[in-house]
Amino acid sequence: MSDATTYSVHDGIAVIVMNNPPVNGLGSVLRPGIVEGMKKAEADPAVKALVIMGTAKAFSGGADIREFNTPKSSMSPTLPEINDAQDAFKKPMVAAIGGFALGGGLELALGCHYRVALPKTLLGLPEVKLGILPGSGGTQRLPRVVGAAEGVKMMTTGNPVPAEKGLPLGLIDEIVQGDLLEGALAFAKKLVAEGKGPRRIRDLAVKVDGDPKTFFEAARAEVGKASRGYPAPLEIVACVEAAVNLPFDEGRKEERRRFAGLVEGNESKALRHMFFAERQTSKIPDVPDDTPTRKIEKAAVIGAGTMGGGITMNFVNVGIPVTIIEMKQDALDRGMATIKKNYANTVSKGRLKQEEMDKRMALITPALDIAAGKDADIVIEAVFERMDVKQEIFKKLDALMKPGAILASNTSTLDVDAIAAVTKRPQDVIGTHFFSPANVMRLLEVVRGKATGKDVLATTMALGKKIKKVPVVSGVCDGFIGNRMIEKYGQQSLFLLDEGCSPQQVDAAAQKWGLAMGPLAMGDMAGLDIGWEIRKRRYVERPNFVYSKVGDKIAELGRYGQKTGKGWYLYEAGNRKPVPDPEVEKIIADYRKANNIQARQISDEEIVERLIYALVNEAAYILEEGIALRASDIDMVYLTGYGFPPYRGGPMFYADTVGLPKVLASIEKFQKGYMGEVWKPAPLLVKLAGEGKRFNG
Ligand code: NAD
Repeated sequence: MSDATTYSVHDGIAVIVMNNPPVNGLGSVLRPGIVEGMKKAEADPAVKALVIMGTAKAFSGGADIREFNTPKSSMSPTLPEINDAQDAFKKPMVAAIGGFALGGGLELALGCHYRVALPKTLLGLPEVKLGILPGSGGTQRLPRVVGAAEGVKMMTTGNPVPAEKGLPLGLIDEIVQGDLLEGALAFAKKLVAEGKGPRRIRDLAVKVDGDPKTFFEAARAEVGKASRGYPAPLEIVACVEAAVNLPFDEGRKEERRRFAGLVEGNESKALRHMFFAERQTSKIPDVPDDTPTRKIEKAAVIGAGTMGGGITMNFVNVGIPVTIIEMKQDALDRGMATIKKNYANTVSKGRLKQEEMDKRMALITPALDIAAGKDADIVIEAVFERMDVKQEIFKKLDALMKPGAILASNTSTLDVDAIAAVTKRPQDVIGTHFFSPANVMRLLEVVRGKATGKDVLATTMALGKKIKKVPVVSGVCDGFIGNRMIEKYGQQSLFLLDEGCSPQQVDAAAQKWGLAMGPLAMGDMAGLDIGWEIRKRRYVERPNFVYSKVGDKIAELGRYGQKTGKGWYLYEAGNRKPVPDPEVEKIIADYRKANNIQARQISDEEIVERLIYALVNEAAYILEEGIALRASDIDMVYLTGYGFPPYRGGPMFYADTVGLPKVLASIEKFQKGYMGEVWKPAPLLVKLAGEGKRFNG
């Protein structure tokens, strides 16, 4: 037996303990031990029942992700083979579940004849979140235990249920108070004493409320609506229907067939890419995992505006106290009031307890003097986006902060190296680019300056994870990864207007493709003055800067978007729904006339290609310049910061799916068209397309 399992006998009850840290993944080191233990228990006449358990913290998290896409994942015995052996086992078998049983972990537990669990245990089949379905009998066994309705719900949402809820559902036979092994042994002995034998789930019938046909029609309608084009949830409903209508083995075949179809589909490939991409972002080639980190127990935030407030909330949410600093009392009061209002909203929705809100608010110390933050382990500057203002603050911080403190800037465009240069400790300076609203958006671009210390980078990445963000490393450049790309996307959206589109046509095509919002509605939300300010700077800085001036015409009229009630669209007071505006149509038409541009019909396909390939081409430059460490980091930036649809896997993954030669061919075609000078294909794209390679390995 391998080290990952132990076998022992306690007073006539055999016990297999799984121990494969960190989550008892059912890897190739673990699976053989389960089967060997079962054989021993079967062969030993002194053994009357068998208990399978993990640790108190984890029964099993399912497949071992370290073995994904390797031959080890399909080495015998596979989980379905273990399930078959469980069904054939002649003595009662009890799963003793602590911590969690998820995915394959729960399928293993469902292969056992009985289940006991610690009170806080979580049980679930989350495969749908990776665009697939439980492939080892989960779709056939779970509904046989909890009924069709609950089975559909658990598997199509992927959300686990706690053991207390699993008990009345029949998923759990008994809750163990106290020691898990003791409780499981007592339960097994009781089974033996009562003469209870194996109880195979495969022999049970599925409970359906009412007429099955009506039930599944309604389930399909409801799940179809919620699944927004993802195929897995409806495939799960079909498997549950098979569990109701077909014998177990036929149902299993149906499950296998549908599983295979989903695994091959682009949606699940994209979701699995995202799953692994998220785990990759913290791997930095020259900063190994064991790089020492600095202790972060206290933070300070400078500026209590839009960003400063949200950033503060991130820290106090995980118990790190924050001193928040403003210049004037009224700005400080406003900032604190916004934080309070945000928490109060969450409390009123029942998602946060009042005591918890009070605890978090008590961790915030408002202050008007920058010196109030001098003892912090990290200070994040979130003041106006002006180099002179930021440099002034960093000079003060350099003089004030204790040695070893991390000095971070939330700048969205400015040169972090130039900010670091005004201090005597550039190794302690780093960019932490949060996205708005900072307490909600998961993305955190961590900007590594040329002097940033490795320990400072490692600490900031770890801190990013601690405050529940997805930290992605970016090198220094204007706009970093995300905003540098979005500028090219915004540029195309305006060229499309020049050439004949209406704002609503561009936005509708983008949304139909899957983006959370079209580019023009997004501009209205962010504020059109922001892009306008950047363009005005560009006109001066870059003499060859090519951009449609139609956006300037809109901004010059004070139409800044939602905040002024009009931008590319009209907004009724208190309503964020964009309403098309004939005045905008006229501004665009006048602009075309003044610039001798002939309007033409533009297809949705062209709109989407121009928007998305503008992102892809710029991303290829970013990758080649080493601003991003890897293509999947760029994908994570777009998935977590810009509303990119998860089932597309991010811009780079999407380009890989389309095929780089095809992407390049479109870009070369655009290069011959309107404002084609902006479409110079990135050398990396040309190279990879020529070699038949992908961005994502
Ligand atoms: P904001 O204008 O809402 O807030 C800035 C605050 O800083 C103001 O309340 C101001 O009073 C305060 N301030 C200015 N100088 C100060 C000083 N010397 N000491 C203390 N307080 C001072 O701006 P914002 O939108 O929160 O942006 C802040 C930073 O975050 C900028 O660098 C911006 O580029 C960046 N950023 C903004 C967004 C966004 O969507 N708003 C997103 C990412 C990054």
